[in-house]
Amino acid sequence: MPLELVTVPCRRDNFAYLLHDAASGATALIDAPEAEPILAALQARGWTLGQILITHHHDDHIAGVEALRTATGARVLGAAADRHRLPPLDRAVAEGDRVAIGPEEAVVIDVPGHTRGHVAYHLPQSALVFTADSLMAAGCGRLFEGTAEEMWQSLQKLASLPRQTQVCSGHDYLDSNLRFALSLEPGRAEIISRQAEVERMRREGRLPMPWSLDEEQRTNPFLRAADPALKAAMGMAGAPDVAVFAAIRAAKDRF
Ligand code: ZN
Ligand code: FE
Repeated sequence: MPLELVTVPCRRDNFAYLLHDAASGATALIDAPEAEPILAALQARGWTLGQILITHHHDDHIAGVEALRTATGARVLGAAADRHRLPPLDRAVAEGDRVAIGPEEAVVIDVPGHTRGHVAYHLPQSALVFTADSLMAAGCGRLFEGTAEEMWQSLQKLASLPRQTQVCSGHDYLDSNLRFALSLEPGRAEIISRQAEVERMRREGRLPMPWSLDEEQRTNPFLRAADPALKAAMGMAGAPDVAVFAAIRAAKDRF
């Protein structure tokens, strides 16, 4: 049985995620943008929060940690590399570490680029990966502390996961990200149909998250930097993948 996943919208455009195993009662939270909506989601389901898994040090991912820790007694986990600037950690993790959530394990993946100590959490059994501001829905995070080379390597790691993996990222930037993707490759049918799907979800009051890695591979320009068609569309035919990725990131910064 896969873990139950609940997407919790927070602040203006953040997403937090709850994972729950009915048999053991284990409940984990990925990122804490603010406490109130997360406490409400827990209360509505009668779940007791056991662990908070932090992806990176930015305020919009950790601002609710202390209030949640106080209210629930949950253990807090985050990257060892960023221990000095995260809330006090009960456990510091690094690449390859495993975190038990009920009967399942989340595997820690180092994904620097947006920040130096950014980590993702992959649950192979439930086919989920929590990527926050590394790989994002139709986009990727800005390079605040890392290089294009680092972020490209991080994205390559995530892109190597099974294609049915559901990617749970940290923000809803879909409208702007898909407009940008289409500006690079005007008329690309797969991007247009993803835009239509997002519009349909919003109309129906559904949250546009998560998305399969397969969808990202087909429509996320940052994952497609190695694709000859995208290179050609950017006037960079034959250029190294990482150079194309860097050019896409720079263009998005100005978009
Ligand atoms: Zn961030
Ligand atoms: Fe963020």
